[in-house]
Amino acid sequence: MIVVSKFGGSSMKDHEAMLRSAQISKKQNSTITLVSATYGTTDQLHELVELSVGGKWNECEKKLFTIRERHFDILQNLTGDQLVGERLRELFNNLETLTRGIFLLGECSEKAKDRMVSFGERLSSLLYAEALKMTWPEKSVEHFDSRRILKTNSQYGKAKPQLSKIRTQCEAFFKLDGSIAYVGQGYIGSDDDDFTTTLGRGGSDYSAALFAEGVKADVLEIWTDVAGIATTDPRIVNQARPINEISYDEAGEMAQYGAKILHSSTLVPAMREKIPVFVGSSYAAEERGTWIRESVTEKPLIRAIAKRSNQALLTIRTPKMMNSFGFMGRIFDIFTENEISVDCVSTSEISVAISTDEINLKNTRLIEQLSKLGEVNSEAGFSLVSIIGNEMLHQPGLGKRIFSAIEDVNVRLVCLGASAFNFNLLVSNDQADETIKKLHGEFIS
Ligand code: ASP
Ligand code: MG
Repeated sequence: MIVVSKFGGSSMKDHEAMLRSAQISKKQNSTITLVSATYGTTDQLHELVELSVGGKWNECEKKLFTIRERHFDILQNLTGDQLVGERLRELFNNLETLTRGIFLLGECSEKAKDRMVSFGERLSSLLYAEALKMTWPEKSVEHFDSRRILKTNSQYGKAKPQLSKIRTQCEAFFKLDGSIAYVGQGYIGSDDDDFTTTLGRGGSDYSAALFAEGVKADVLEIWTDVAGIATTDPRIVNQARPINEISYDEAGEMAQYGAKILHSSTLVPAMREKIPVFVGSSYAAEERGTWIRESVTEKPLIRAIAKRSNQALLTIRTPKMMNSFGFMGRIFDIFTENEISVDCVSTSEISVAISTDEINLKNTRLIEQLSKLGEVNSEAGFSLVSIIGNEMLHQPGLGKRIFSAIEDVNVRLVCLGASAFNFNLLVSNDQADETIKKLHGEFIS
């Protein structure tokens, strides 16, 4: 059985969290474990980039010192191994030289930034390998560099994986007979010229899924600090509870519509290889957690509710749309050209309404281009409330129940029918939580 496990930053917070996670790797008999940077370190590395670009060398030194102390401290509390200490020192020397270079230049390319932020995972994985050796002495633990395997394009900061190369590298590198427990880094990869790349913030989940696909794993485990995916954000509804199982499609909609628990691309590789994904808490490994699978046995009408805040609604209106064709095509071409994703779309004979992240309103080129097609009206301050389930298209009376539950809410846009797994409502930001509470009360609590 091939198990790929990923531990996030909160599971790498300090030596105790690392040892707790190592117990899990051992218990699950993880074949490959990928880890995130220690909690908060990626943010600190980004700050380090800012400080060095800004010419603040003293601040840079302070930040480097803080990061260094924390990692050496963890090592001392684990094996204190001298060779690992040497490797940490080498990494810190490199990091300092790079920081100095950026400081002297006063600028930092995306390419250099990826190299800078890659240190978080490179440091934490070395320490985690020590924690695993302590916890699992009978196993041969091998630390490896994920960049050798996770080949990507050169889109620094948000690189795209090259699947067939990843597979080839996985086949060539890993010995999967269970004799070795591998420890590597989430988030980082390398391009064809072997320059370091990253998959974008929170990308370790996605890395783990790509490795799972590459080795055709039987299970992908994502260990975080909450015991699975909740029916909705517990900060909004305190009766929110963990979901036992959910289909790929539903979980995909959830990740897309704002549930922060998984990086939104994570399920794509898992779905391609039909690998079941488990999400659990490394702080409470005995709790049930959530299984994400192709097919599920529990099929409640509504399984979960997600929210995506700060949405805008763009309406493009033209009398020319009457009896004509190609209007929508041109609209979507403009969104494609500007690399902007749209969430919900609704059309009438003479207008099209589109919801998208509010930040896109700042894209003047987008608005100018759309204005050539018709009169553009933009409104901001909305949230997209996404009701997720499996059976929504087959349930007479569902609309009545939804709208009765939220009769005081002003719904600005509705989307149903495109996917069998969600029913989206666009409401103002300040009515979103109330909408979720009422729907959760009606269908889930
Ligand atoms: N360490 C990276 C980040 O904080 C990747 C991850 O944690 O998934 O974004
Ligand atoms: Mg993370």
